[in-house]
Amino acid sequence: MRVLILSDVHANAAALEAVLDAAGEIDAVLNLGDLVGYGPDPNEVVKRVRDLPLAASLLGNHDLAALRRLDLATFNPWARAAAEWTARQLTAEMRDYLEHLEPHAQALGFHLAHASPRDPVWEYMVHASQGPANFAAFAEPVAFVGHTHVPRIFTRQARTEVSPARENTILRLEMEPRRILNPGSVGQPRDGDPQAAYATLDTDTGTLIFRRVPYDIARTQARMAAAGLPRPLADRLSYGR
Ligand code: ZN
Repeated sequence: MRVLILSDVHANAAALEAVLDAAGEIDAVLNLGDLVGYGPDPNEVVKRVRDLPLAASLLGNHDLAALRRLDLATFNPWARAAAEWTARQLTAEMRDYLEHLEPHAQALGFHLAHASPRDPVWEYMVHASQGPANFAAFAEPVAFVGHTHVPRIFTRQARTEVSPARENTILRLEMEPRRILNPGSVGQPRDGDPQAAYATLDTDTGTLIFRRVPYDIARTQARMAAAGLPRPLADRLSYGR
């Protein structure tokens, strides 16, 4: 089975379409959350992902904000403005879809969490020191997380090691070593590479590939300007920061 792993699409329809085109034939999709927030296409993105062959679909902190289930004081002013705009845009149908999601799940033998296994809404998994408590928080060999918008590989050995996951990094997933993997962000990458980030997995061979694809950034930026979304949120897409 060929699986597409998506996270942090953030209402960027141009980036999502580029990823779906590049991924080709897929049998199942794992959505790690934050379908909306920041970007100009919340309804289009929720509908497009909802209609994919989802094996799991998670709720992220920006989805919670758009549902007005989160205190927006925790967001910086630009993110807050985008969350308020998104909350006004979402149709009842798309809001209802998001309302039924959870921030963690099990699917296809994997543990899934939007942010981290021990704190699925908020914890940014960045440092190796966060490994032990998070590996203890799930039983499966491998977990997938999103939230930081930076592709990363946490590997459980004698101690936890963490490394960036560059484009075309290939991993063979096995029982050992255990891993926590972040595919990066489709709609707002933050590792200095503005291309949309995602991963594909062949479950027959256990082969995971971290992938990037260029998309029409100017189209998304023009739509953000037209929507009156904060300019810095559009500018950052050019730099992948
Ligand atoms: Zn996010």
